[in-house]
Amino acid sequence: MKIHEYQAKELLAAEGAAIPKGVVVTNAAEAQRAFDNFDGKPVVLKAQVHAGGRGKGQFKGSGKTFGGVKFVTTRDDVGAIADVMFKYPLVTKQTGEQGQRVSKVLVQVAADIAREIYLGMVLDRALAMPVMMACAEGGVEIEEVAARTPEKILKAVVDPSAGLLPFQARRLAYDLGFTAAQVPAAEKIMYALSEVFLGKDCSLAEINPLVVTPSGEVLAIDAKMNFDDNALFRHADIRAMRDEAEEDPGELRAARKNLNFIRLSGNIGCLVNGAGLAMSTMDIIKYHGGEPANFLDVGGGVTAEGAIEAFRIILEDPKVKSVLVNIFGGIAKCDLIAEALVKAGREVGFKVPVVVRLEGTNVDKARAILASMRSELPMIQTAANLTEAAQKAVAAAK
Ligand code: ADP
Ligand code: MG
Repeated sequence: MKIHEYQAKELLAAEGAAIPKGVVVTNAAEAQRAFDNFDGKPVVLKAQVHAGGRGKGQFKGSGKTFGGVKFVTTRDDVGAIADVMFKYPLVTKQTGEQGQRVSKVLVQVAADIAREIYLGMVLDRALAMPVMMACAEGGVEIEEVAARTPEKILKAVVDPSAGLLPFQARRLAYDLGFTAAQVPAAEKIMYALSEVFLGKDCSLAEINPLVVTPSGEVLAIDAKMNFDDNALFRHADIRAMRDEAEEDPGELRAARKNLNFIRLSGNIGCLVNGAGLAMSTMDIIKYHGGEPANFLDVGGGVTAEGAIEAFRIILEDPKVKSVLVNIFGGIAKCDLIAEALVKAGREVGFKVPVVVRLEGTNVDKARAILASMRSELPMIQTAANLTEAAQKAVAAAK
């Protein structure tokens, strides 16, 4: 799960990080009032969307060139720019071309910036440990810096049972070029980041940029956090920060029915039971020259209702040109899946070929059901084995 910048900064502030003053608003008039309350000081209007790269984004269809982070100095401009932010979808490198609607804007007092630094924490899967990463060249180009000059990224491995240790924070702070007077403030932000990351079960937590002002203040200007979904049950405060408008509607619908749905970039829908079977189904599709559009894992104990919802979700995606149903009937018996397929076909209407490969408990019953439906549901094709199923699904998608 992801949260917004303003929420991530609240979590950091609660652990002692310094952040600039700011207010979240939901319309242009509120933005102007916030500007007045900050005594007319220059502010930065920041569109709150989960995607990164907002500063370099654009509001699609607005005809304006500014992105989701805009420095503003007058009351009129605050109103006009907030209007655009609320009216048009913001497109960044991470949103896809349709962009993302903005329903909240953070009005933040502008900071004078002498330096921009990157500070982040991720799980290093090779080390099986959290790692704090820092780079003296922070800001909006951090991905390029990491790709071109990876040696500029400083790292400290953090033992989760001990947290970030004082010597590690001090070494990072000095290596980043903080002056002796600034080091304590920098360390404080590093501790805050580490406490939030470990305490809230983050999979990623970033401050980019961490800025140093000309007077030597150290502030977290932007923050981004992802949380481990499997740990959310123990963080009611984080669950309350969920913004469903930012999530994939298909993935949300599936989650409500206890189905695992992941959208991908190809054109073959995959309906399977079990994560391992999902992986091998996608492998075999790719092996035969196709690309999966998604996979939907109905799990072991699927009900007819769950299976019908699964078909609805898959078939709703206009990218899907064929569907491969690959089920190994165990707890969910093959005939139940076949019946669900028939019901879904009647209800949703299959407009693309649905290739079915069933194996396991009650497979003969299932085959009989599908055979009897041949004239009513001509889009259903059966396959005797997985290779044949993959070949048919790939051919149908082309
Ligand atoms: P994103 O990473 O999504 O583009 P940021 O919040 O990092 O959004 O903003 C992009 C850039 O805008 C920052 O690197 C910084 O230079 C500038 N900026 C953002 N917020 C402020 C602020 N409150 N004061 C001054 N500059 C800011
Ligand atoms: Mg940023």
